[in-house]
Amino acid sequence: MKALVYQGPGKRAWVEKPMPQIQKPTDVIVRITRTTICGTDLHILKGDVPTVAKDRTLGHEGVGVVETVGAAVRSFKPGDSVLISCITSCGSCANCKRQLYSHCADGGWQLGHLIDGTQAEYVRIPHGDNSLHPIPAGSDEEALVMLSDILPTGLEIGVLAGQVGPGDTVAIVGAGPIGMAALLTAQFYSPARIIMADTDGNRLAVARQFGATDTVDVSEGNAVERIRALTDGVGVDVAIEAVGVPATFDVCQQIVAAGGRIANVGVHGAPVELHLENLWIQNINISMGLVNTNTTPMLMKTVQSGKIDPARLITHRFALDDIMAAYDVFGNAAREKALKVILSA
Ligand SMILES: [Zn+2]
Ligand SMILES: [Zn+2]
Repeated sequence: MKALVYQGPGKRAWVEKPMPQIQKPTDVIVRITRTTICGTDLHILKGDVPTVAKDRTLGHEGVGVVETVGAAVRSFKPGDSVLISCITSCGSCANCKRQLYSHCADGGWQLGHLIDGTQAEYVRIPHGDNSLHPIPAGSDEEALVMLSDILPTGLEIGVLAGQVGPGDTVAIVGAGPIGMAALLTAQFYSPARIIMADTDGNRLAVARQFGATDTVDVSEGNAVERIRALTDGVGVDVAIEAVGVPATFDVCQQIVAAGGRIANVGVHGAPVELHLENLWIQNINISMGLVNTNTTPMLMKTVQSGKIDPARLITHRFALDDIMAAYDVFGNAAREKALKVILSA
């Protein structure tokens, strides 16, 4: 079979690899029908994630059809359509029992990280019963690819950790796929205003279509003053950091109102300067984390009912065979006006 592999910093290739095999009775082999590329994959390619070994197949998002199941798998059979969670979970360890699936003793973020991932014709999913979700017949599978990672991440680590509530003013700093996922799911909770900040005018225009009430183009300078001016100088109830660099975290620290929340979603590769000397007296909560994907079944219902349409995040479509070209487009997202790319087998 073919697979997209990491060959060390800056190097990737679409190569022939052996078919994955059942290794444990709880494994499921899935034939990939649709997958995508995540910003995290670009981080790996830059060499930011040293735990990824050379020749690892990348990818932690996708949908497919069950090919074979191990002897202990109870919930799936060959031919079933499945959504792959970016988080592998056994369902029975101490952390799984409190829905902290991201820290499963025999799971967590494995796919495209510690084991071969979804940017391939076939993938082995450990603990298939817990790490896959059944797809109801007639579902929009492209839309559901957004539920492997970005929608649950935006919701759980941005919106829920930030305790977005009715009437709140929310600022989302970073209008990439994760920021957009936070924008879509924040609207479940009826905030009064959602301010989107980014350096990319195209993404800000898209954010308005997706429900942002205000946009701030950071490239025009003075982002902090302009966001504070939008709130009459008070600041925002919830500041969602959706980039993962010190400058955007710093914006969040400067725009949060007294009693507010900073929800960090971005993946940071370097330390940030934490201004406790200003924040302590303001009664600020700061949260961060890795998605648990415990909200995925709920999100599937909201997609089924038409409450949200995450397929709107898809800007480009490629055949899986053309994944090298898809990486070129996604890697130049601003120039290509790309949000999410879908690869179909
Ligand atoms: Zn991802
Ligand atoms: Zn577990």
